[in-house]
Amino acid sequence: MCKNHFNPIHCIIPPYMLTKLMESGNKKIADMAINSNFRSFRFRNDRIFFQQSSLHEKTILGLISKDTGKDIMQMEVYDCCQKTDFISATLLWDTKTNQKLTSVAGQNVINGGKASWDFYWKLFGRNSIDNKGMLIKQYVHFDKGMDNAYWDGRRMVYGDGDGTVFTSFTSDIDVIGHELTHGVTENEANLDYENQAGALNESFSDIFGIMIKQRFNNQDVKRSNWLIGEKVMIGPKYALRSLKAPGTAYMNHPELGSDPQPATMDKYQNLPDTESGDFGGVHINSGIPNFAFYVTAFNMGGYAWEKAGRIWYAVLTDVGLAQDARFTDVKNLTIIHAEKTFGINSLEVKAVKQGWSEAKV
Ligand SMILES: [Zn+2]
Repeated sequence: MCKNHFNPIHCIIPPYMLTKLMESGNKKIADMAINSNFRSFRFRNDRIFFQQSSLHEKTILGLISKDTGKDIMQMEVYDCCQKTDFISATLLWDTKTNQKLTSVAGQNVINGGKASWDFYWKLFGRNSIDNKGMLIKQYVHFDKGMDNAYWDGRRMVYGDGDGTVFTSFTSDIDVIGHELTHGVTENEANLDYENQAGALNESFSDIFGIMIKQRFNNQDVKRSNWLIGEKVMIGPKYALRSLKAPGTAYMNHPELGSDPQPATMDKYQNLPDTESGDFGGVHINSGIPNFAFYVTAFNMGGYAWEKAGRIWYAVLTDVGLAQDARFTDVKNLTIIHAEKTFGINSLEVKAVKQGWSEAKV
């Protein structure tokens, strides 16, 4: 199903969080959230444009690398210097010259970009976002205190955060891996960004984002805390999302209240397919497939990417995964791929079935 009339940008901070901040009694937070919300409208148009570009147009726009075919990462990092245009952004770093740099945000996205590229290449032989060596373009210090990070179909963009609720969106490798994975999904199943398909789109980004962080930190399923965005959100008790216990990433936050994610299908939230409804709760109901993955990976033991990650990647790149897939479609495909890879009566198949069963899908 083609849905070109409806193409939200992919950002890490959902509309329900920004709405809460826009209503904050703290004027500084409220003003910054209004600005961050405005930016998301602007990026949406960019994303529609880039998604509809032909291969030729993408080459002219510099989205397809001239060095395509070489199995090396290609990345450019720019500093927007708190402005909101990309043309005047300064090149901080690129893979060709590998300059020394002092920018913390710049170094963060280099580390995150490298960890993400390396994850997909070493484990799955995938060369970058499009598997054709796409140049990874990252822009830091976008706008003054913007509360978000985006994948707009062409580039990753990071705000510095308002300084009270959020700090720099470059602070967590899982956030960088999450955004980059939106690019991978767009080039594979291209899951609709609404309702269950949208929640799956978000879930794939969280799942690969957390695995990229776990691999970077050499953490197995037991050592990982399974939290996304724990540094981005200010305060030791807060993170954006928890795959291990959806609905507990932040509790009684003075500005944001409590994490609304369900972990199980009986708590699925039927929300309106509008911006204020988070397009049918794409960042909310993603807690359900996230939890199914966590239970599966935990029961398999070891490193999440060795078995569970392999199965989920096979599903994400399976031509049988429809653009408007539902949770049960992904459940069935994960079982099929687990059977194919590990055998019909394997412990791995049991773990996958157990994962979806605990998420009540
Ligand atoms: Zn996202």
